[in-house]
Amino acid sequence: MANEVRVRFAPSPTGALHIGGVRTALYNYLFAKKNGGKMILRVEDTDQARFVSGAEDYIKESLEWCGVVPDESPYSGGEYGPYRQSERKAMYMDYALRLVEEGNAYYAFDTSEELDAMRERLKAAKVASLQYNSITRAQMKNSITLPEAEVKAKLAAGEPYVIRLKVPSKEEIRLNDMVRGWVMVHSSAIDDKVLMKSDGMPTYHLANVVDDHLMKITHVIRGEEWLPSAPLHVLLYKFLGWEGTMPQFAHLPLLLKPDGNGKLSKRDGDKLGFPVFPIQGEFPDKEGKLEKVSGYRESGYLPDAFTNFLALLGWNPGTEQELFSMSELVEAFTVERIGKSGTKFDINKAMWFNQQYLKNKTNEELAVYLLAELEKQDITCEKSKATQIVGLLKERINFPSDFWTQGQYFFNAPEKYDEKITRKKWTTEAVLILSEYAKELENIAELTSETAKSTLITVLDRNGIPIGKIMQSIRLAISGTGMGPELMDIIAILGKEEVIKRIGIAIEKLPVKVVD
Ligand code: GLU
Repeated sequence: MANEVRVRFAPSPTGALHIGGVRTALYNYLFAKKNGGKMILRVEDTDQARFVSGAEDYIKESLEWCGVVPDESPYSGGEYGPYRQSERKAMYMDYALRLVEEGNAYYAFDTSEELDAMRERLKAAKVASLQYNSITRAQMKNSITLPEAEVKAKLAAGEPYVIRLKVPSKEEIRLNDMVRGWVMVHSSAIDDKVLMKSDGMPTYHLANVVDDHLMKITHVIRGEEWLPSAPLHVLLYKFLGWEGTMPQFAHLPLLLKPDGNGKLSKRDGDKLGFPVFPIQGEFPDKEGKLEKVSGYRESGYLPDAFTNFLALLGWNPGTEQELFSMSELVEAFTVERIGKSGTKFDINKAMWFNQQYLKNKTNEELAVYLLAELEKQDITCEKSKATQIVGLLKERINFPSDFWTQGQYFFNAPEKYDEKITRKKWTTEAVLILSEYAKELENIAELTSETAKSTLITVLDRNGIPIGKIMQSIRLAISGTGMGPELMDIIAILGKEEVIKRIGIAIEKLPVKVVD
């Protein structure tokens, strides 16, 4: 299809994929699907120094977990592959050479000592920018300053070199970003970026532009941190004669710390106690020490809730609607509604989404979570009972694991009792009512929430005590806590014998408050 929308997510496998990167992938996916196009996953692994083994698998697994499934990738293949830049290595040199031949790039033979010396000279001369550019290139060892024969001799002798872009000295570079509008940069602000490194690998800039062109990418949707590189990419498109098919750019706003003070980092997550990565992983830090990163998946977030939350971090539908399935997101998504300014990260909002998605599941679906945890605890439980329990708890929980942590008393009699409630509520009156209640329960043929309640009322009426005064004491005896879902429902699920037993234990164990 001639005008098919083709977008790409192009991560570098240098470690765990930050949630900002996941959001970029998601927006690319939504944009592709909305426009009946294709999303491509391209692994940008040309920087051997930053390559981290396992990072690519991590990216793949993260995207799979989020339901962001590319149409073309190193795994599914596609007509424009290979989709890993290291496997495309042979393709880039020709383009760099073409740039050299046409006078838009040049060989540079400077050693790192010579480059350092240049920076020192510039520093001493109080020049603000210490760059290799249209001014400084004239004093360096390159194919612009050296005689042609010497350049040829150096190349023939196999001397190490890089190829640099020859950025024009006086040119206004303009691009119309879909999020930010017109962006204008003067070429004097851009340095002569290396395009081919001395190890024969292309740099990000060259490989990225060549691949976007060869893969027929129509829109480049990526993080704001790449905006400064965009004018350079525009120059490359122009020099390579691809201006007519240059993709449209959309640079996404940053994800900010909760207080809005700068970019959200791993450290913020560690400090504030929430993950900034989709799934758990282990990668070397800057010193090469293995470091664990925690993930949303392992913290109990449902993938749909996570993607819904991420989608709204930087984009808004223009309505009050907050809950969107993936297909609803596809339907509603437009680049025009992506904000220009950074978005503050709010973990409470992420939790809220998780809660909503859990609440919207059927009790049967939720029972699976509880049953899985019970299996780990070696506790057997009928599915029907688990279904009843999750039904009672679902309004109160944020994560699937909460069914177990908040509902343990359905399986084990309390070993500890809330001290404050005990001090306040375990009165002689409470003990009297509870022992009478236990006796009455013995005579009930079938214990249901209704019979549990009517029996209690009979006992209370007999003693002239209002129900509100005694509820927490009963809850304390049954569950050890002062709060929880509907008490009569808990009693019905526990069953007559267990309830009578627990009341007996509490009466035996708990110190009675003397003065009421
Ligand atoms: N490889 C770059 C990254 O790691 C891709 C940037 C782009 O999308 O152009 O984010």
